[in-house]
Amino acid sequence: MLVEKIIKKNYDLTPLTTFKIGGRAEFFVLVKNQEELIESINWAKRNKLPLLLLAGGSNILITKKKIRGLVIKISGEKYSIKGNTISAWAGTGLSKLARIAIGLSLSGLEWALGIPGSLGGAVRGNAGAYGNDISQQVSEVVAYDAANDRLVKLNNQACGFSYRHSIFKQNKNLFIVSVKLKLSQGPIDEIKNSAKKNLVHRRRTLPGEPSAGCIFKNLEYNKLIKENRDLADGLELKGLFRGGKIGTGYLINQLGLKGKSRGGAKISEKHANFIVNIKKANSQDVISLINLIKKKAKNRYKINLTEEIEYFGG
Ligand SMILES: Cc1cc2nc3c(=O)[nH]c(=O)nc-3n(C[C@H](O)[C@H](O)[C@H](O)COP(=O)(O)OP(=O)(O)OC[C@H]3O[C@@H](n4cnc5c(N)ncnc54)[C@H](O)[C@@H]3O)c2cc1C
Repeated sequence: MLVEKIIKKNYDLTPLTTFKIGGRAEFFVLVKNQEELIESINWAKRNKLPLLLLAGGSNILITKKKIRGLVIKISGEKYSIKGNTISAWAGTGLSKLARIAIGLSLSGLEWALGIPGSLGGAVRGNAGAYGNDISQQVSEVVAYDAANDRLVKLNNQACGFSYRHSIFKQNKNLFIVSVKLKLSQGPIDEIKNSAKKNLVHRRRTLPGEPSAGCIFKNLEYNKLIKENRDLADGLELKGLFRGGKIGTGYLINQLGLKGKSRGGAKISEKHANFIVNIKKANSQDVISLINLIKKKAKNRYKINLTEEIEYFGG
């Protein structure tokens, strides 16, 4: 592939994000495989341009009207199955892989049905739900190390997974190319029922308007007691921690912020940790709500909330 031939200029990214809030990329390229990805990364390097990667666009807020450099959009799907292991190209949809696994009686991704992003994006942010996360299934990641111009293989431990975190967030030179997920055989009815239960719950509790999922990370008991022991213990007494975490939406709701809006953005009435784009919102509308929530949480609870979404474009 000659990357120059498929690069577009001044490209509108709005439709490529689930928030439907965009900006224009100075240069844009859509890649469907490892070769195209590496060639595009090297093109940006050769031209000394900043480089940004976009996949499902479901965990980002684009903050700039004009994004300098090359935005690479990972798309397309490719996977193979050998025994209990699924190997897939980073651009493959996570929910699609979950559906395939479930159909084959393979357990481990029942929680992932309905999550809108790619496999690579999920591994980078260690996506999860219902007490599970992708780190429990990852056996190997192949990544392109742009600093040393080579492919590297990382086992689960080397990925440095923790709650919504991995080494790929720390090391911006590592681009996830493909992932091996190790699943386990189980009774098909149990697997299907559990996946269905999760999906029904997801549809019932999450807003349908454009969003980027949860704005803030949930609060971990072990971290919360360091900031506000009384609050942590009070919530613990009420039995509100599950797996050591409490939904930040609960606290945002307690702050009376559900339904507050700025411009075209609103704190969802259905799930207070979601900000939804109800009427052509721009990034400033969303940021102003994020700042409002952070300020109120600091004033009332003396805690600092951390974003789960990523600011894209600087
Ligand atoms: C309605 C809704 C529900 C959601 N529910 C959940 C949920 O239950 N649990 C959950 O964890 N998340 C959830 N999310 C958030 C989001 O879907 C996940 O975080 C998803 O895994 C992000 O993947 P993506 O492909 O969309 O990443 P993007 O948003 O495209 O990118 C996110 C970040 O990852 C980087 N990135 C993407 N691909 C790669 C790669 N191959 N190599 C290196 N870096 C890469 C990007 O550069 C960017 O910094 C939800 C979002 C929405 C809109």
